[in-house]
Amino acid sequence: MAVSYLQISPEVASSIRLVMTDVDGTLTSDGRSFNAEVSQAIRQLKRESILVGLISGRNMQRLESLASELAVNGPLIGENGGVAKLKAGGEPVDLGYSRQPAVDAFQKLKRLFPDAVEDTEYNPARLVDYVIRVNGVSVTELSRHLEGAQLLDSGYMLHLLPQGVSKGRTLMRLLDRIAGGLSPEQVMVFGDSPTDVSLFQLFPHSVLIPNPVLSAEDDILRKAARYESALPSGEGFAQVVFHFLKVRHNSAVKK
Ligand SMILES: [Mg+2]
Repeated sequence: MAVSYLQISPEVASSIRLVMTDVDGTLTSDGRSFNAEVSQAIRQLKRESILVGLISGRNMQRLESLASELAVNGPLIGENGGVAKLKAGGEPVDLGYSRQPAVDAFQKLKRLFPDAVEDTEYNPARLVDYVIRVNGVSVTELSRHLEGAQLLDSGYMLHLLPQGVSKGRTLMRLLDRIAGGLSPEQVMVFGDSPTDVSLFQLFPHSVLIPNPVLSAEDDILRKAARYESALPSGEGFAQVVFHFLKVRHNSAVKK
């Protein structure tokens, strides 16, 4: 069960070498504007030689432009784990994922719920994840009909993903190629929605940024995450970063 970010210990604060953060609902509430504290938090992390990367449902092209806007220096993972680069401007990592199970799942749901399930304009730019809109049928009901694919609610869009593809698993697969090799204990992950639960489950130092849009999911998210911010979106992210950097400094001074 998530506890307050104020309980991040000096040992944990000193061990972090990579921060991976979700974007929508975690760094920004409207998907466009980032408050000054977010940029300041990222700058301070980099000054401490901590890499900062983005892990999002957005496609790689959109993550690349965001990476340059926010000046992050770490890995980029898009499409909820479907696509990845070790750093902005680099070559895509070959993860070996096929989109077919997600496409098949969309066609099946469209056949079963023709009036409720809709295709979206986001799909031509995507390689693995399939984005749909749904009216009047729950995620639980739709999920009952899926084989080989999963349906996740980011709070903004519904994502069909091939089974086995997740943010957590893809980040885990990249770890030995980042900064000469990292362990899960050296990573801090931030997220706000069911698309981040795999991160919370696989990485011990996980932070939930509560999103008012997703209050119905609170229990699942709180159960999976280790820590929780007191403030929402970018303010919450900055609050936790400033705190753990302070704890890290204080413990370094004592040593
Ligand atoms: Mg999010």
